[in-house]
Amino acid sequence: MNAEQLALPGVRKLTPYQPGKPIAELERELGLSDIVKLASNENPLGPGIEALKAMLRILEHAHLYPDGAGFELKAALAAKLGVAPAQITLGNGSNDVLELAARAFLSPDNAAVFSQHAFAVYPIVTQAVGARSCVAPARDYGHDLDAMAALVGADTRLVFIANPNNPTGTYLRRDALRGFLERLPGHVLAVVDEAYFEYVDAPDYPDALQWLGDFPNLIVTRTFSKAYGLAGLRVGYAVSSAEIADLLNRVRQPFNVNFLGLAAATAALSDDEHLRRTMELNRAGLGQLAGAFAGRGLPYIPSVGNFITVDVGRPAAPVYEALLREGVIVRPVANYGLPGHLRVTVGTAEQNEIFLAALNRVLGS
Ligand code: PMP
Repeated sequence: MNAEQLALPGVRKLTPYQPGKPIAELERELGLSDIVKLASNENPLGPGIEALKAMLRILEHAHLYPDGAGFELKAALAAKLGVAPAQITLGNGSNDVLELAARAFLSPDNAAVFSQHAFAVYPIVTQAVGARSCVAPARDYGHDLDAMAALVGADTRLVFIANPNNPTGTYLRRDALRGFLERLPGHVLAVVDEAYFEYVDAPDYPDALQWLGDFPNLIVTRTFSKAYGLAGLRVGYAVSSAEIADLLNRVRQPFNVNFLGLAAATAALSDDEHLRRTMELNRAGLGQLAGAFAGRGLPYIPSVGNFITVDVGRPAAPVYEALLREGVIVRPVANYGLPGHLRVTVGTAEQNEIFLAALNRVLGS
């Protein structure tokens, strides 16, 4: 038997996650420089000064293992979020905690429910452990909570809810999400993925952490990759009951968060100024991009995140390729069932302008 035949059935059918194209790869392929990458929802401001200083202070300790318990980061998070450190599970990015949830609660005998167009890691972690994926059709590009509830059965153990969702930028309102959680049976855990939490300023957007006391089966995940500008360090976390956190921590690798990530994330948490500048830039950039799309008659999905997904009115793959030749990397989303759309991360005003000018050239005026 070859290795392919020996692999788990779920693994054999897996399509690997397709990340945004790295800048260095496009440089190698096309010999371009001054590339603008708006493809991975990274923070165009970079890390904050406090995070940078914290990393510089400890670089010389790279020979030591990190604190596997993440004591300081958990203490800082607990203080900021009003939870106990024992309720927190740290991850190598929030992708890691999504996978921990799958490994702790899914098996080939059960299933996870999520939405069409939802974040691509949910099907991957579900399939990797051999569990069944139940995909509810989207409504207006967002999660249709009734359709998701209808898919919950006796074998369902996890429901993944991205709020806001990537790649659509849609969000679930407070009453709708709370009503959905109230309807979930006791054998189902809800993972509310709040990777873009910090960006959202809609008044009816819920902070699911406030509900941990009401829903014992709730897991909320967040990340330092987006608003905190630390994607390269890979730090994310889950907040849940202490009982669930204990289970997630049992399947966690002992040193899953590296020492630079721990230090930078801890420092970043109190860098309110960097977060404020990030939000301000994002709000302006979302307006800039949405305004330009509207001006060109390109329909876009209204977004509350740090990205916006636009309908280019034709197959998006050639548009994506042509933008690459212009030195602009955005994200094709055909793998999300959106073959006519491109997802664009909000950059600096200048980066957004470069992208918009390239898009104009590519689409023709
Ligand atoms: N959830 C959502 C909805 C995301 O878009 C992302 C990043 N693409 C993640 C989780 C994971 O991010 P990270 O692992 O960097 O925390």
